[in-house]
Parts: sequence; C-alpha cells; structure tokens
Amino acid sequence: MNHFEYKNGELFCEDIAVSTIAKEVGTPFYLYSKATLERHFEAFDSGFKGVDHLTCFAVKSCSNIAVLSLFSGLGGGADIVSGGELFRALSAGMDPKRIIYSGVGKTEEEIRYGLTSGILLFNVESAQELHRINEVAADMNLKAAIAFRVNPDVDPKTHAYISTGLAKNKFGIPIQEALDLYLEANEMTNIDVQGVSCHIGSQLTLISPFVETLRKLKKFALQLADKGINIQYLDLGGGVGITYDDEEPPHPMEYAKAIQEELAGLDVTLILEPGRVIVGNAGIMVTEVQYTKTNRGGEQEKHFIVVDAGMNDLTRPSLYGAYHSISPVVEKGNGSQVADIVGPICETGDFLAKDREFPEVAQGDLLAVESAGAYGFTMASNYNSRPRVAEVMVSGDQFRVIRKRETMESLIQGEAIPEFGE
Ligand SMILES: *Cc1c(COP(=O)(O)O)cnc(C)c1O
Repeated sequence: MNHFEYKNGELFCEDIAVSTIAKEVGTPFYLYSKATLERHFEAFDSGFKGVDHLTCFAVKSCSNIAVLSLFSGLGGGADIVSGGELFRALSAGMDPKRIIYSGVGKTEEEIRYGLTSGILLFNVESAQELHRINEVAADMNLKAAIAFRVNPDVDPKTHAYISTGLAKNKFGIPIQEALDLYLEANEMTNIDVQGVSCHIGSQLTLISPFVETLRKLKKFALQLADKGINIQYLDLGGGVGITYDDEEPPHPMEYAKAIQEELAGLDVTLILEPGRVIVGNAGIMVTEVQYTKTNRGGEQEKHFIVVDAGMNDLTRPSLYGAYHSISPVVEKGNGSQVADIVGPICETGDFLAKDREFPEVAQGDLLAVESAGAYGFTMASNYNSRPRVAEVMVSGDQFRVIRKRETMESLIQGEAIPEFGE
C-alpha cells in the first residue's frame, strides 16, 4: 500500500497533484510520500514487536537526512557502509547507539570516526579489518564492539549482482572459518565481541533463504556459546524484496513471523537492516517528455520517448536491467504503442524502459517512474555534467524540497585549472 494514487485521471502523492509540484520545482525530481515511508517502516518494525530488536535502516538505499530523521523518530537506527553515511545519520540526529557499520573496506579514518561517535557495532568482514579495528581502538584507549559478518553460503535466488551471501561473493567471512576468528578476537584487549551478522542479498522474494540463513547462524551461535562466547546481537541483514512488476515478495508480517519462529530459544537482540522494502515504493521519479521520435529501418519501426531524466538520475534499468513501471502523470486515454523510454545521455545503455507498451504521449507530458525510492537518488551521478535532481517530500497537502536541485556551479565545485611552475 502506498500513497501514490490516481484521482480523476491524475496522479496524486497523498493530497497533492504531482503536476502541481512539477510546476514549482521543475523536472526531473524524486518525490517521497512521508505517510508511505512511515507506514512501511511501521509495517516492518511492528512485525518484530514481540522480540528485542533494532531496525537499522540501510542508509545506502535512500540517504536523505529528512528520511533518516523520520525513521530515527520512529525508533529506528541506521546500517551504514561509509564514513559519509555515518555523517548523514548523525546529521539526521540518529542516536549513535542505534548505528551499525557494515562494509568490506573500512579505512582507518572511518573506523576512528565510528569509534569517536560511539556507534553500536562494527560488522567486521575480514581478519585484517579485525586487526585494524583492534589497533585503532587501542590507540584511542577503548574497546570496539564488533560482530563478524559471516557468509552462510545460502542462495538468495535473486539477481546475480545483488546476491551477497554466496561463497563466491566478496562479502563476509566463510562460516567455516569464522569460529577461529571469533576465538582470536575474544582474546584481543581492545575488541568486545558482541554479535553475529550476515546479509545474503537484495530483492529476495522468498522467505526460505532467510530461514535457512537464520538456522545456520543459530547453530553457529550455539557453537560459540560452547566455546564461552555469548553473543548479544544477531543481525539478519536486509534484503526483503518489493513489487516492481509482477514479483510477489512476502508481506513483512509473514517474514517477521517466520524469523521469530526460527529464532525461538535464542536469547539475543535481533538486528534487521531493511532498505528497499521500506523506501522502494515510497518514492517515484518524475520526468518530462522532451521529444518523441520514430526511427525507421526497412520494415522496422522503432518508437522512442526521450525524457529529461537519464541513467545518471536512475541507474537501475541500465545497471541491472531492472524493471520500473512508468505511467503518465495525467491519463489522457490515448492509444498505445511499443516504445523505448530513453534519457538524454550519450550511451546506448541510457534507458528507463525497453519495448514497453505505453500510451501515446506528447512533448511536455509528465511521466512517473514508479518504485524509485530505493537505490534511486543515492545511485545518481553527474555523468554528462548533469546536475543531480531535486528531492521532494510530501505530507498531506504540503510539500517540501528536501534536497535542492544542483546548479551549474555545483558541477565544477572544487575544480581548479592548475598553474604549474616553469
Ligand atoms: C544493501 C544492504 C542492506 C539493505 O538491503 P535491502 O535489499 O535494500 O534491504 C542491508 N545490509 C547490508 C550490509 C547491505 O549492504
């Protein structure tokens, strides 16, 4: 359920016509519904209300501080993967004791920043990282709380680029090798071993891989207990999928129920790192048709709808061949045709949709690219020297720009034409 709905043939976000916002802020822009963000967060989080848990929103999926602040206010935490994301979470007012730090390549500086800020946990992904954290913590004269991200070797049955929990993926520590590392870490003076964590992939539409993972982690936690290491946190990662097209992901309640059944008997605080499932369908990208054209070659005819948003603004179609539903903001009841919806970037891979049955549209029409709340703006770049677009949030009949459209000046900010000596 989300709050993007047609009323009398016109797309609304909550109580405002999307076209009204477009008139004021220009196109393209990302548009988030506050009521939907809240609803999706609550739908996920409330499923776990029977157990000690912490819902750490995956900042990389949608990192605007307005969004982070909203989840923080609802009792959520943050799963971060860089110093930049830590800065965002703290800037949003997030309690550092609800921040966990994942990622395979934490630098010494980032580790120091995490320790200074007093975050809850580092999810450690290699033996070298463990040693580095121990050294930095020793230098700062404190103890770093850690969990190891173990790789359970479970097939998430999702897109190859977004599966992370297989032995062949770069993430985590193979569960068979993890025990030795736990024993080593447990002896380190500046390390406090507190958890086991994992994240097996993204856009999962089945519950079974999560249950299989949890079963392996549970077994592992009992092995640790046998060795005298009692963990306090069990982190199951993120990855619950959403409907982009015709996928049928589990309802968050079903997911929560299955997890809790499997968790029974283990006395830990459960950590969850959802991203997409909360924000994916709480945001759209709005773009304007610039041109329509038909290329004819022999018998073939190919229709193109050229819009003002490109792969730099929403990269998922180009990067993963991902499907996004696209609809005219104002329905006109025209006939339809099969067309590619493409951007202005000088790359053949710059498309939002391919061979899509689409209503006939004209120059100046607005299109809504749906399900764009996750991995949309956060993956945007300035490629082709295009300023990044605005982000807008709606609440009821009000809207606010939560990130200004970049300007020409922002494109060259920090650049310099060097002067070299003779
Ligand atoms: C990306 C990521 C997530 C969030 O994944 P979603 O599929 O958006 O839920 C959670 N944890 C880690 C470690 C990640 O890298």
